[in-house]
Amino acid sequence: MSVEITILGSGSAGNCAYLETTETRLLIDAGFSARQTRQRLASIGKGPEGLSGILVTHEHTDHINGLVGLCSKLNIPVYCNRDTKDAMEYQLDCKFECRIFITGETFEIGDVIVDTFSVPHDASDPVGFMLRTTAGKVGFLTDLGHATKLALERVRAANVLVLETNHDLKMLQESSRPWSLKQRIAGRHGHLSNADAADAAQEIMSADLRHLYLGHLSRECNRPELAHRVIQDRLEKIGANHVTVELTSQNKPCATLHLEHVPAYSQHTLL
Ligand SMILES: [Zn+2]
Ligand SMILES: [Zn+2]
Repeated sequence: MSVEITILGSGSAGNCAYLETTETRLLIDAGFSARQTRQRLASIGKGPEGLSGILVTHEHTDHINGLVGLCSKLNIPVYCNRDTKDAMEYQLDCKFECRIFITGETFEIGDVIVDTFSVPHDASDPVGFMLRTTAGKVGFLTDLGHATKLALERVRAANVLVLETNHDLKMLQESSRPWSLKQRIAGRHGHLSNADAADAAQEIMSADLRHLYLGHLSRECNRPELAHRVIQDRLEKIGANHVTVELTSQNKPCATLHLEHVPAYSQHTLL
């Protein structure tokens, strides 16, 4: 049985990804309205009913917009840390059935092992995730102002990584956005630029990494082809030709990625 991963959408107007294993069905963030999430899931032949859980990275609207609609009717547990729960409940004026983790902890949801780790971002207690499945490891590293050693270590073994390429620094500086917002985005607790992401990808590069998704692109301060070129150029420069770079879209789901289960005895010969 393979593991399926679909980035349902990514960007400052909404982030949501779907992962399905033999035993477990998860959303990673729920930044689209419940209706929109349902539509996007339906487009890949899935539905939100029976989800094992929704993992929440942090309380910004583009990550939790659909939580009320999805959880209130369907009783889907929300996995988050205490500060994120408090911030979400205050913001959305709603109580959730949460499975609280402490940032840095590892826990299991069915056959998926979830590593959590802190990322530097302007939210209460923002985290990244590394999901370990029988068919491979999937890292989520978006919404961070700079790539800390800790975060890079946590996703170093990923076979699939969703990495933030939020903005092109020059486009951000030349944009009409207020100075304070530019400072926030480019700051140590804001978002990764294309160049930052290229450095992060280089830093963690391994034979194990196969798919690199470029996520959370700014509409005004980035262009998909630019982000793709910056990352692709860096990968070519360091000889990482085994990695497929995939763009994510705000408007529509990416093609579903199927990770095939690799028997333990043959894992080394494939590297
Ligand atoms: Zn955020
Ligand atoms: Zn975000």
